[in-house]
Amino acid sequence: MTSLDQFAAQKLAELDAKSLRRSLRETRRDGAVHAWRDGRRVLAFCDNDYLNLSQDERVKRAAIAAIETHGTGSGASRLVTGNHPLYAALEARLAALKGTEDAIVFGSGYLANIGIVPALVGPGDLILADALAHACLNAGARLSGAKVVLFRHNDLAHLTDLLASLRGAHRHCMILIDRVYSMDGDLAPVAEISALADQYDAWLMTDDAHGIGVLPKEDPALVPLQMGTLSKALGSYGGYLCAKAPIVDLLRSRARSFVYTTGLPPASVAAALAALDVIEGDPEWARTPVERARQFTRLLNLPNAESPIVPVVIGEADAALAASERLLEQGFLVTAIRPPTVPDGTARLRITFSAGHSEADVAALAEAVRAVLP
Ligand SMILES: *Cc1c(COP(=O)(O)O)cnc(C)c1O
Repeated sequence: MTSLDQFAAQKLAELDAKSLRRSLRETRRDGAVHAWRDGRRVLAFCDNDYLNLSQDERVKRAAIAAIETHGTGSGASRLVTGNHPLYAALEARLAALKGTEDAIVFGSGYLANIGIVPALVGPGDLILADALAHACLNAGARLSGAKVVLFRHNDLAHLTDLLASLRGAHRHCMILIDRVYSMDGDLAPVAEISALADQYDAWLMTDDAHGIGVLPKEDPALVPLQMGTLSKALGSYGGYLCAKAPIVDLLRSRARSFVYTTGLPPASVAAALAALDVIEGDPEWARTPVERARQFTRLLNLPNAESPIVPVVIGEADAALAASERLLEQGFLVTAIRPPTVPDGTARLRITFSAGHSEADVAALAEAVRAVLP
């Protein structure tokens, strides 16, 4: 065994001992809300395809047509030859949707965040981020070289204290929050945080990965940097930032994860555009995931859902895994989320609802979840 082999084996053994080793399991989607796992057709309650648009015929046809016209790959960075004509249409569409002057599309939400933050702040600057902000906001913050301080989740008093004590000693300040917290499903107090940002001249960025398409629009007057993903309710792949034109222009020149990576395949851009058509044409469909989540929280006497994401916290990682396995045996696919994705001792079932789930599906899931709770 080389030292490298030994290192990997020892790390894996440590993860195994704590029930924290992760493994990939083949999952074949089957229509809007079903999937195949271990040879069984199950009802899935754990993807972020809230409007089932990744399986939608209109969206699929748009992607296929883009391949026929533009090919399967974009061939280069967007600044070289990868900026196929669909990009301008999508960026204009996103800017209009979000009420901003311009928009920039990245290869993914993760790439967007690790590109945007270091392009705007650096050493000598301050970043205040919610303790539960997404991993890629944290990654962007660390990459920037700015001083990074986390404030307690949704805690305005803590954020105010940090601004009061730290803001003055730093040139620029960025505040990073999720609009919807991905593992808890709760919302950020955006208006209050925006007021603090104004008061202390800090630049607020919201990550709307789980809001776009399924929650009412954000107020562009409150949030100068509206980031999000095309990979969830839009059923495609890619990330974006909507902002004023000079900010977007600066990022086109300076965001490294934009400049030094290949543009998205035309099919992904076309699919996102088609998804926006569907969403704008059917507001009732867009509202349904949150309604289903609320039905579920009512049935289990949980706090009223604010988004399509509902956590059922179990505690220890092995117990969460066991609960997930028992649900799978009954035909429900609900993954267990373990540390370090969530804090120690809060391993959970993360349940997500989509427009294609019927009320009967939700009632059946609620029964099954009640039965597996410790
Ligand atoms: C999923 C997610 C991302 C990453 O988006 P991708 O397009 O999947 O890379 C970023 N932020 C939040 C809050 C997310 O949930």
